[in-house]
Amino acid sequence: MNVQRFQEKGIQSGFKRSVAFSFWDGFVHLLFPSSCLVCQGELLRAEQICCSVCFSELMFTRFENEQEPTPLDQLFWGRVDVVATYALLYYEKTNNVKPLLQALKYNNRPDVGIFFGKLLGNKLLEQANFSSVEVLIPVPIHRKKRYDRGYNQSEQLVKGMCMIWKLQIDKKLVSKRMHTQSQTKFGRFRRWDNVENQFYVDKGIGRYKHIALVDDVITTGATLEAIMKEIRLISPEIQISVISLALAK
Ligand SMILES: [Zn+2]
Repeated sequence: MNVQRFQEKGIQSGFKRSVAFSFWDGFVHLLFPSSCLVCQGELLRAEQICCSVCFSELMFTRFENEQEPTPLDQLFWGRVDVVATYALLYYEKTNNVKPLLQALKYNNRPDVGIFFGKLLGNKLLEQANFSSVEVLIPVPIHRKKRYDRGYNQSEQLVKGMCMIWKLQIDKKLVSKRMHTQSQTKFGRFRRWDNVENQFYVDKGIGRYKHIALVDDVITTGATLEAIMKEIRLISPEIQISVISLALAK
């Protein structure tokens, strides 16, 4: 067979394969049309998670274009030293981000984490202040919660990020301790004390110079602050950055 015939055959079989795949995709789409997580409208085949209209209306932080310290940088001022911070979206109780976060956290949609993780990876890949990050660490959830939910939502974000930004994932360096007594039984001071003792950090963290913690949504920053303080007890000089899908407004 000459080269040209061989190439034609390759192109033809590739063409047949792609026709077969798109036929199958179309068939599946016809049987199980998926709907937008925000407006519930039917999704087009190229759309994932939400329709392009709802996607365009998401409240992006655009922190990547910011020259001044962002509200997320400021959140940790005077509390704990952070090298760089980034959040992709603003979360408000009334905005489009809420149903997406809910789906990721409570409605068995780990694919939402992968989808936004890839977006985060694309945003951060070129950011100079994140360039020395060696490992991504998802904020852990308790083992029972993970079992009930089937996955850790922050880990899904990290998985998506690593598809674009070729970094290591380490989910064993920081873990959540067993549930302590119900926090509501304590007063304000004890409750804070309780948050601080919820995390366990493995000594192996000492082999890294710059790590990034990854969370799904940041509100007060208390959880991340507690983890960072625990990490610095083991490795006082370590550089820590923070990445989140959303920042509460
Ligand atoms: Zn929509």
